[in-house]
Amino acid sequence: MHYENVESLWAATAPPGPALTAFGGDAVADMVVIGGGFTGLSAALHLADNGADVMVLDAAYPGFGASGRNGGQVIPGLKWNPGEIESRYGGTLGPQVVHTVASGPDLVFSLIERFGISCAALRTGWLQPAHTSQTLATVSARAEQWARRGAPVRAVDANEMAALLGSSFYRGGLFDGRGGTIQPLAYTRGLAQAALQLGARIYRDSPVHSLQADGDHWLLTLPQGTVRARRVILATNAYSDQIHDPLRRSLVPVPSYQVATKPLSAEFRARILPGQQGVSDTFNLLRYWRVDATGRLIMGARGLFGQPSQAEALRSHDAALREIYPMLGSLDYDYRWTGMVAITEDHLPHLHDLAPGLYGAVGYNGRGVAMATMMGRLVAQRALGREDGEYVFPVTTLKPILFHRFSEWGVRATVSYLRIRDQQRAI
Ligand SMILES: Cc1cc2nc3c(=O)[nH]c(=O)nc-3n(C[C@H](O)[C@H](O)[C@H](O)COP(=O)(O)OP(=O)(O)OC[C@H]3O[C@@H](n4cnc5c(N)ncnc54)[C@H](O)[C@@H]3O)c2cc1C
Repeated sequence: MHYENVESLWAATAPPGPALTAFGGDAVADMVVIGGGFTGLSAALHLADNGADVMVLDAAYPGFGASGRNGGQVIPGLKWNPGEIESRYGGTLGPQVVHTVASGPDLVFSLIERFGISCAALRTGWLQPAHTSQTLATVSARAEQWARRGAPVRAVDANEMAALLGSSFYRGGLFDGRGGTIQPLAYTRGLAQAALQLGARIYRDSPVHSLQADGDHWLLTLPQGTVRARRVILATNAYSDQIHDPLRRSLVPVPSYQVATKPLSAEFRARILPGQQGVSDTFNLLRYWRVDATGRLIMGARGLFGQPSQAEALRSHDAALREIYPMLGSLDYDYRWTGMVAITEDHLPHLHDLAPGLYGAVGYNGRGVAMATMMGRLVAQRALGREDGEYVFPVTTLKPILFHRFSEWGVRATVSYLRIRDQQRAI
């Protein structure tokens, strides 16, 4: 795989990761994890913590994928409301799944604490401001559903939201005390360091080219060797390739684009997100933003396909920031970068038994900091043949998306349609 170095704010400011080498030779491992992002590293950490012999192989390096490029917002829950999750899974399973998805941020912050991961972690909460009266009603109902289940989530009126954001653009929204922010590449590297500390082996520049059943083992072929493993976890998400084509075709990778300004002046730092929450709004093509420890404003939104997407995306992010924070005037940007988000047809993450001894965990729909860390733990338990004991998530049958090769065009058409809908928004 040819990969570029990502010139993001995160790459410029994260502490160096552990020194790693490329895999070479012929090896045997009990457990192999393919992919060194939140899912793969959390899986490796939890496997090693349970005494398993585990090897992680990443085509590039830990954090090369979405885990090193995202907004660093620790977002509780899924796109679905807890009531919808309960109805979907029913009986006792529904509330257990709600507990699992609600606990993602606890798992992230507890790993950070346990392993002393230095990643600018702040548990200051997460905001979802609503831009229309209709979305305000939806978000308020969501807050009410979580509050009824004992979560520290509440509806916020327009005045309070204006004070929290430093902008009167929104009509109110939701405050979720479970969320927060991290430096995502630093967190990824910290997970890698923790997994190494527990005895995992991690290799960079080690693309797995093929994966074949070999008796009751799996044979992995790499450019400079082979690995025989009893159990294999696929944690490649939006960066999935041909090694398991049905898994790749169960997801649509959608680009998301981010920019980081120069540090804001002390006056604006005091006014804009003084509580340092992460924010994602309610536009169809949602905008998400936060400030970092140095006062840079970091904004992301759904990217555009084709060239010159970066210039167009920068213009659209700049327009969004001016709309929300008109007092900022002309802004200077130091960093811009993209990453791929894995979207699933049902907007749910998936835990898969792909074949005997082969597992997959994918599809966080832009909410992977907490959920991928959680799914890494769950898929590790699955590979160990154990129940987690505390968290539960259903194992689903893999369903490749019909006409997947046309999905990029489908996403492009959908993005254009949603943009028009956002521009014509009802008040
Ligand atoms: C721009 C952007 C902003 C986002 N913002 C947020 C946010 O603020 N909050 C939030 O909760 N979520 C956010 N997300 C989503 C979140 O980043 C992802 O859900 C999460 O990082 C997925 O982690 P992962 O480990 O499953 O996959 P990844 O981190 O993508 O890791 C997959 C890895 O697999 C490796 N790989 C692929 N094929 C092979 C192979 N054949 N052999 C070996 N290795 C291979 C790749 O090199 C890669 O490192 C964002 C995503 C993007 C792109």
